[in-house]
Amino acid sequence: MRIDIITLFPEMCQAVLNESIIGRAVAKGAVEIVYHQLRDYAYDKHKRVDDTPYGGGMGMVMKCEPIALCFEAVCNELGKKPHFIYMSPVGKVLNQNIVKEIASSYDNICILCGHYEGVDQRVLDMLIDEEISIGDYVLTGGELPAMVLADAVCRMLPGVLSNEECFTEESHYNGLLEYPQYTKPAVWREKEVPPVLLSGHHENVDNWRRQQSLIRTKNIRPDMFEKTELTKLDKKLLENR
Ligand code: SAM
Repeated sequence: MRIDIITLFPEMCQAVLNESIIGRAVAKGAVEIVYHQLRDYAYDKHKRVDDTPYGGGMGMVMKCEPIALCFEAVCNELGKKPHFIYMSPVGKVLNQNIVKEIASSYDNICILCGHYEGVDQRVLDMLIDEEISIGDYVLTGGELPAMVLADAVCRMLPGVLSNEECFTEESHYNGLLEYPQYTKPAVWREKEVPPVLLSGHHENVDNWRRQQSLIRTKNIRPDMFEKTELTKLDKKLLENR
C-alpha cells in the first residue's frame, strides 16, 4: 500500500512514522508513505492556506484550492485517484473494522490533515471519500489522527508484523479484548504469573486466555460483550471462572 499524507506539518508525521515497526516496514518497502507540504500548493504571494470564515466567528478555515491542487498532484503522480480520507471530529469514529476494511480494500489511500477551524466544506464535498474521527474529542490538528490511522492500517498489511497472529489475537480484532500478558520473571515482587501459563499444556493455556478475554470484555466493555456470539465452550469457561 502507498499512503499519501497532505499536511502543513510533514516533519511531525515523518518523525513518528519513520520510527519503530512502521519505520522498519517503510525501510523494507512493505509500505510506502509519502508526505506532501500543503503550503507548496498555495500560489498567492503569502502562500496562504487559510482564511477567515464566512459568516464571522473565531479562527481560520483551510482554503479549497491548495488542497485540490495538492490532491490533483497526488492523483497525477499515481496515475489514479486514491481513496481520500479527511481526518475530522465530524467523521465516523475509527474502530478495528474500519481499519480492516481500509487495509484490505485499497492499494492507495490519501489522508488530509486539517488545522485551525477545519476545511472549507466545498472541497470536502467534491473530493473526500470518507471522514474519519479518532474519538469524540477535538485535537488541534489532523496530524496525530492521520498517524493513528496510518499506524493501525500499516500493521495489518502483509510483511509489516512478523505474522498475522500478531494482530488477529489482539484486542478488537474479533470483538473481544485481549487476555492479560506476562513475561519473565515468573515471580516479580512476590507476584506470580498464573500457573497455567507455565504448565506447557497448550489447550489449557488457550482456554485460560479465552476465559480471561471473555471476563475482561464483560467487565470492562459490556457494550462489546453484548455483541459477542458465545460458543458452548465460551459459556462453559464463563461458568467455571
Ligand atoms: N472546528 C472543528 C469542529 O468543531 O469539528 C474542529 C477543527 S480541529 C481544531 C482542527 C483539525 O484537527 C480538524 O480539521 C481535523 O483534521 C483534526 N481533528 C481534530 N480532532 C479530531 C478527531 N477527533 N479526529 C480526527 N481529526 C481530528
